Amino acid sequence: MPQTASIFEIHDDRFRHLIVGSAGLDELYGECRWAEGPVWFADLNCLVWSDIPNQRMLRWADGTVSVFREPSNFVNGNTRDRQGRLVSCEHGGRRVTRTEIDGSITVLADSYEGKKLNSPNDVVVRSDGSVWFTDPTYGIKSDYEGYRAEPEQATRNVYRLDPQTGVLAAVVTDFGQPNGLAFSPDETKLYVADSASSHDISAPRHIRVFDIIEGTRLSAGREFCSLDNGLPDGFRVDIAGNIWTSAGDGVHCFAPDGTLLGKILVPQTVANLTFGGPRRNRLFITATRSLYSVYLATTGAALG
Ligand code: MG
Repeated sequence: MPQTASIFEIHDDRFRHLIVGSAGLDELYGECRWAEGPVWFADLNCLVWSDIPNQRMLRWADGTVSVFREPSNFVNGNTRDRQGRLVSCEHGGRRVTRTEIDGSITVLADSYEGKKLNSPNDVVVRSDGSVWFTDPTYGIKSDYEGYRAEPEQATRNVYRLDPQTGVLAAVVTDFGQPNGLAFSPDETKLYVADSASSHDISAPRHIRVFDIIEGTRLSAGREFCSLDNGLPDGFRVDIAGNIWTSAGDGVHCFAPDGTLLGKILVPQTVANLTFGGPRRNRLFITATRSLYSVYLATTGAALG
């Protein structure tokens, strides 16, 4: 039986070195409809995240929440590139955009092979400037978190946008619904969640891992871990390569070898999370209506 201590459920002793046992779960905001896409701005000491159905992005800074962008065009996942620019997945525009330092918006990708993307969900930027994102159909299934439409793509792909040529390549095409994604700390591996069990209970609830080949292609991939509660949506990696993933009962932490180390129990379904704070040791968690945070004894591996 796992031992439960406060908000933490310890499945492996290694987890004890990653958490602060006395730390609590702080609810920072509770008025979202579906909170997603948290991204940390260390230079501004603030968190920006998406409230998808409410068509807005919010900002948390020093305990105060304000509107960052409204309407948001149903922005979902967010990250920052190596120049610090905000990169976002828009359900409404069915595109990936970059917000420039003057506030203007550049479209990075909105079609593949001449057809509209489904509804980009989550995005990461590698240190070589390449932009990797997932394209499931959640944002076009209804008018709740985007605009209902028939998919033009035959598959739900993971894409890589080349920073030099601007060419968009489908790097994986056999996902049910690709969702969150993150690199290993050394950027030799890419982890991608499959959340297809949201609409198909027989679908796997797993994160797959792929080797990155020559910076541009992926190996065949294999199952990295499977969740025992809920499904994996967004996730992040810490400096030791542990995976901190959203799940039905909170946040699950997996070692690089795929072992479940422990859980952070959260009272609402978690969609995504990111590391932030001045020491990058604070995990910000978007969970349905609320934004939560918890201090940890580890730090995030990458920007965003
Ligand atoms: Mg997602």
